[in-house]
Amino acid sequence: MYPVIKLKAGKEDSLLRFHPWVFSGAIASLPEDLEEGDAVSVVDHQGRLLGNGHYQIGSIAVRMLTRDDSPLDGAFYHQRLESALALRRALGLARPDNDAYRLVHGEGDFLPGLIVDVYGPTAVMQAHSAGMHFARGIIAQELVNLPGVEIKNVFYKSETTLPYKAALDPQNDYIIGSYATDVATENGLKFHVDWLKGQKTGFFLDQRDNRQLLEHYSHGRRVLNMFCYTGGFSVYAMRGGAEHVTSVDSSAKAISLTKANVSLNFPLDEQRHTAVATDAFDYLAQMEPGAFDLIVLDPPAFAKHRSAIRNALRGYQRLNARAIEKITPGGFLFTFSCSQAISKEQFRLAVFSAAAQTGRRVRILHQLTQPADHPINIYHPEGEYLKGLILSID
Ligand code: SAH
Repeated sequence: MYPVIKLKAGKEDSLLRFHPWVFSGAIASLPEDLEEGDAVSVVDHQGRLLGNGHYQIGSIAVRMLTRDDSPLDGAFYHQRLESALALRRALGLARPDNDAYRLVHGEGDFLPGLIVDVYGPTAVMQAHSAGMHFARGIIAQELVNLPGVEIKNVFYKSETTLPYKAALDPQNDYIIGSYATDVATENGLKFHVDWLKGQKTGFFLDQRDNRQLLEHYSHGRRVLNMFCYTGGFSVYAMRGGAEHVTSVDSSAKAISLTKANVSLNFPLDEQRHTAVATDAFDYLAQMEPGAFDLIVLDPPAFAKHRSAIRNALRGYQRLNARAIEKITPGGFLFTFSCSQAISKEQFRLAVFSAAAQTGRRVRILHQLTQPADHPINIYHPEGEYLKGLILSID
């Protein structure tokens, strides 16, 4: 047993239903000398063990890792990582023409607080809890030990994901190995992934399936990829035979990454692509009506917290109205929200309001979500964050 945290009567219910978090209000007693990131054993008010986890100061006080008294050691992480990899193999993701995938999606892989994305020979690891930060060395070792996959380098990137107050001072750096290649392959397309300076782990793996869908809609169309970041949607649209692709992002760095990824895949065809560094709302306001037959809107999370929901919904409505109003009749809109705080229904309502505002006839063709390597633990619905709609606009 680790140092013991005792819950108040009745507060064990959600843990027994497999929810992986203990909220601070559920705690009856805890050892005085407990430090953030310590492994703890959680017991109910009668002292019955509920499992082991990582302690954290804040509203989520414990992230549960086991439902028994197994130690949180190398063997534990090995077993969890192996089963995470087995799922990715079953999904057909780890293969020569697709070596970019999410290996560990926190609660969705029963490893709350941990994200691991694989890019060819390099795993990029992110800790969202002090406990995972302290376990980083063991986890990195188990990643390179994983049978059946050749992970040689582990880059640790937690400078922006760890709780600010924990003062852990994590340095973004290689824990094992060093820089090998920054090119990863997704469905046969190549992408430079900037895990050193890029957003998240350097690439938005969660749009893989949606990019594939876009490829099938792109033939002969003039495509606008708004909020392009590394140009994922742009490159798929080009492979799908788009007549022309325009990529827009307010970040100059994102635009240069997009250009690099277009030339990596289509070195002789770069005239089919235009990249513009500008603000999305300005671009849409100035755009000629009918200039595009297919528009992708994949903005950053407008609501990072619950308090921002109202403004965020207004933002989604405004953005979508601009695109719907100007798209060519018979065109398609791929529209997304990655705000965890906004529900599928709220997002759909914002897009509905945008459509109604324009007075155009709009149909929903697909309702999209995150891919299977970002699994949602059914007992932890908070893990669902990506939502999207493909609309046909007459
Ligand atoms: N669609 C991308 C991910 C988008 S991430 C993919 O599939 O990889 C969100 C992007 O929006 C970031 O690159 C950010 O630079 C850009 N961005 C944020 N605010 C913006 C704005 N007002 N106008 C244009 N781009 C913006």
